[in-house]
Amino acid sequence: MTPDVTDSLRPLRINAVELLRQPGAVRDVDAAVDPEALDAGHERVDGDIRVDLHLTAMNDGIEVTGTVSAPWATVCRRCLVDLAGVAVGQVDELYQIEPLDPDAYLIEDGQLDLAPLVRETALLELDLERQCRDDCAGLCPVCGIDRNAGSCDCDTTVVDDRWAALEDFVPDDQT
Ligand SMILES: [Zn+2]
Ligand SMILES: [Zn+2]
Repeated sequence: MTPDVTDSLRPLRINAVELLRQPGAVRDVDAAVDPEALDAGHERVDGDIRVDLHLTAMNDGIEVTGTVSAPWATVCRRCLVDLAGVAVGQVDELYQIEPLDPDAYLIEDGQLDLAPLVRETALLELDLERQCRDDCAGLCPVCGIDRNAGSCDCDTTVVDDRWAALEDFVPDDQT
């Protein structure tokens, strides 16, 4: 890791001890993170991952809410046209020093590290396959025409030539 990479994750590391001393205190985390630094180098990621989170100190932990946005670029899974956009994942998690809630993340060594949460949220969004529209007609498997833009007369009934040959085959010993 280069020093730059470590720096880019620094805004995601919060001093939890300090925050927990003041229940009700709020802290905003607003950062743009290099996906490589986050270890979220997904094939569809197309730019920095935007972190917009709000931390609220509670009596039993720190509540984290907000969004993680990942810009993406890919092709429609049906017609292969280029697509791009920004996926926004909603975050609502609890971090605790003593894991009283089974769903809570753990605060280790007094430090709340948001990086794993940001990585998971971004990857979940990036893993989604995209379509240009819900009713995309896709490509003709025979001639490759974009069926959204035109039509063709291809016979797309699946025919396997090996079976067609067997139908004409008459064994010698039956004649
Ligand atoms: Zn499409
Ligand atoms: Zn066709």
